[in-house]
Amino acid sequence: MRGLKLCGGPGAPRTVVNVAGLAVGRDFVIIAGPCAVESEEQTLRIARLVKSAGAHMLRGGAFKPRLSPYDFQGLGDEGLRILKAAKQETGLPVVTEVMDARHIEKVSDCADVLQVGSRNMQNFTLLKELGLVDRPILLKRGMNATLEDWLNAAEYILSGGNGRVILCERGIRTFETYTRNTLDLSIVPAAKEVCHLPVIVDPSHGTGRASLVHPMCLAAAAAGADGLLIEVHSHPSRAASDREQQITPEAFAGLVQDVTGILSVVRRSDPVRTA
Ligand code: PEP
Ligand code: MN
Repeated sequence: MRGLKLCGGPGAPRTVVNVAGLAVGRDFVIIAGPCAVESEEQTLRIARLVKSAGAHMLRGGAFKPRLSPYDFQGLGDEGLRILKAAKQETGLPVVTEVMDARHIEKVSDCADVLQVGSRNMQNFTLLKELGLVDRPILLKRGMNATLEDWLNAAEYILSGGNGRVILCERGIRTFETYTRNTLDLSIVPAAKEVCHLPVIVDPSHGTGRASLVHPMCLAAAAAGADGLLIEVHSHPSRAASDREQQITPEAFAGLVQDVTGILSVVRRSDPVRTA
C-alpha cells in the first residue's frame, strides 16, 4: 500500500476508538437512525425505539448530500438542534455527516462522531481540517475508491494528529443494477489485514434495499466487522430520503437479536491500543 505511514502495518495492535465511553474496535457497535432528520417528533421517536432495541449510537443527517439540488437537502442547523435534543433525552451518542469544512465547529457541537460521506472521501481540504479536530471521524468508503484510496484518505486525518478514525464500508459502484451499490464485504478482513483501524459496515446504502439489510448485517458480523450502521425509519415509505432502504424499528429489533447470535459464535479479541 503506497503512502501509508500511520494506518498501515501488518501485526500492529488494533486501535480502539473511544466514543463517549464506547470502545469501537473492541465492543461491537450498532449505529441506527433515520437517513435524515426530518422533524423533532420523527427523530425522537426513532431514537427511543432504536435505543430500546439495543442500538449504541444514533445516526441522522442534518446536511444531506443529494443527487439533485431539488431533493430534500436536510434541515441543516435545525437538524443539529434536534439531534442534540435526541441525545439529551436518550443518552445515545450522535453520528452525523459534516459536508463542508466551514460546518465543522457547529456539527462538532452536537455530534460525538463526525461522518465523512462517500462523496467526500477524497475531499482533501475537509480531511485535513478533520485531522485537527478533537472528535472521532467515521470515514465512509468512496463509491469508486480502492482499499488504497480509502486508507490514504484515513492517512490524511491521522497525519493531521487525529488518530480516532473508524472506517465504514458502504458499497461500491459495479455493473450490477439490482442493488444500489455492491456491498464489498471482502474489504472488511482485507482492510483489517493491512490497517489497525476499526471497520464497520453500512448495508443500508450498500444494498439500497430494505429486504437485504438483515442478511448483509449477519454476513458483516460474521466477516469480522466491528459494527454496523443501519438506517431505521418508523414509516420508510414516507421518508424524505432513501425510502427503499430504511427498515422499521420492529425489523431493527429482530436484527439486533440475530446479530447478537452471530457475534456469540465469531467474536474474538485481539491486542488493542486506545486512540
Ligand atoms: C449517509 O450515511 O447518510 C450517506 C449519505 O451515506 P453515503 O455517504 O455512504 O452515501
Ligand atoms: Mn441515506
